[in-house]
This record gives sequence, structure tokens and C-alpha cells, in this order.
Amino acid sequence: MIGICRLCEKEKELKKSHLLPSFIFKWKKEQGTGFFRSSQNPNKRVQDGLKLYQLCADCEQRFGLWEKQFSEKLFKPFHDNSGTHVKYSEWLLKFTVSISWRNLIYHKLKNGLSILSETQRDLAEEALLKWKSFLMNQTKHIGTFEQHIFPVDIIKSYQGRGSLSPYLNRYFVGSVDFDLLRTKKTCFLYSKLNKLIVIGIIQQPSKDYLEGTLIEYPTGKFKPRPIGIPEQFFHYFNKRANQCAQHLSLLSDKQWEAISKSYEKDIDRLKNSDMFFATGVDVSISGQNAFHVLKSEKEKDKK
Ligand SMILES: [Zn+2]
Repeated sequence: MIGICRLCEKEKELKKSHLLPSFIFKWKKEQGTGFFRSSQNPNKRVQDGLKLYQLCADCEQRFGLWEKQFSEKLFKPFHDNSGTHVKYSEWLLKFTVSISWRNLIYHKLKNGLSILSETQRDLAEEALLKWKSFLMNQTKHIGTFEQHIFPVDIIKSYQGRGSLSPYLNRYFVGSVDFDLLRTKKTCFLYSKLNKLIVIGIIQQPSKDYLEGTLIEYPTGKFKPRPIGIPEQFFHYFNKRANQCAQHLSLLSDKQWEAISKSYEKDIDRLKNSDMFFATGVDVSISGQNAFHVLKSEKEKDKK
């Protein structure tokens, strides 16, 4: 398809570009727990994640170089060992800006950012321009449209307010997700690359909204450290985990059979997987509900 490339704005042959990078889906397949389904039609297995027409081959390649560095230097080492220390250079901010930029483009195409306030819509347009210039190497600064990264992992117990989603730990270790979030004074892109969360700020209520998570430029260090994130994140993770379980509950019996067959084929690897461990913790925290949450509303009514 010929069109205007969303990044360089030249008229060229456009590629179907991944909303989230394909290495994640490849990696998940290698882990043996790699199924990702679109929320629109959960029965359709979306092996490679969502795709959109948007970039020319040159810009795809530009993204590809940063993705490769992120995948090899941070994503894989971190998922092998969450205590890993990584010294990063320009590639981390470039990669995360490219993720937030794509996420925002997706939401803009989907609903014209109608969920945002007028101020936030203006800021979002400004962020798109800033991020684009940064990705095109026309500027070294992204201003207030910062990128943050932090890990999530299995929660074995919880004493806070409210209850845990019976699917929370499986959501943490096994899901790829993206969203545009807002409250009255806050607006950001949320991209969950398995156990790493990338936040692209559009509007934040204060400078210390997120602590210990800012991606520095041109160099910095990613390592285990104390981080401060607002409690609302926790409620959001819970909500998202429940939604994820709801989507899975819409799968047909045939689909469940296919999934359990693919697990059985590789039972040894499954036994050592994060997903297996997370299922155990969900069960120890939520009991029967850990499985009940995956049943459709219709099935639940039958009981
Ligand atoms: Zn281009």
C-alpha cells in the first residue's frame, strides 16, 4: 500500500507495522506460553500481535535497530534474571519513545483521543511531535514527555486495601498489553512488555508522580531499586487482570483444548515457567476463584 509514512512523512510503500515489537511474541512462543489474543476476537490467535499500516521500510528499520538492542541487552537478560544490572545508552530512550509513540498513534486512529480533555489532547499532539523529532534524530530532548520503566513480578501476599484479582499474577508474568490512561490531571501511555512496564508521560500531576523509574539520556543504569508508584496503578493492574481473564473466558472449548494440548506437549518446560508458578500463587491467594475467573458469565450462572 502506498501512503504517507507516519514518521518521516514521505510518500512511500508502507509496511504493516507491529504495534508492539514482534520479538516479544517470538520470545513468548519460545517460552511455550506464547499466546496473545486480540480483545476484539479472542478465538482468533494473534500470534504476532496487532499490526497497523504506518511506516515505510526505512523507518521500520530504524525502529528495528533499537528493538534489537532492547531485546538483547535488557528484555531477555531481565526475564532470565530479574536482579540483572544493565548499563544502557541512547537505545533505551529511543526504543521506549517509539513504543509510546506507536501506542498513542493507535489510540488517535481508533477514537481521535476523544477520551482526553481538551488540554490533554493538545498535550498529546505536542508529545507526538516531540517524540517524532526525537525518533528522527532532529532533537535530543523530549521535554516533559518523559519515559519511565519499571518491573512487575509475582505478589505472594497483600495487606493493602481491596482484594487481589484472582488472575493478577498470571497477568503480571504472562501478558502483553497496552492502553492510554487518564484522570483529571494525569495522562500517559501504558505498554506492558511482559514483566516490564513502559510509561510514556503526556501529563503528570507532579514531578514526583513516579519515583526511581525515569529513563535517562543518553546513558543510565537499569537495576533493582526502590520505586514509588501511586496506588492507583495497583487498582489498574487488578482491573486489567480481571479483563484479561474475562477475554480468556470467551474462548471456545475447542480453543482451550488446543491450548492444553500445546502445554502437554512441553510439560517439563511448563513446570519451570513463570506462568506455572504464577498460577500456583494465584491459587494459594484466591483458591477456586483462580480458575473460576476464567469461566464465562454463562457458565458461572449455571452453578
Ligand atoms: Zn518513513
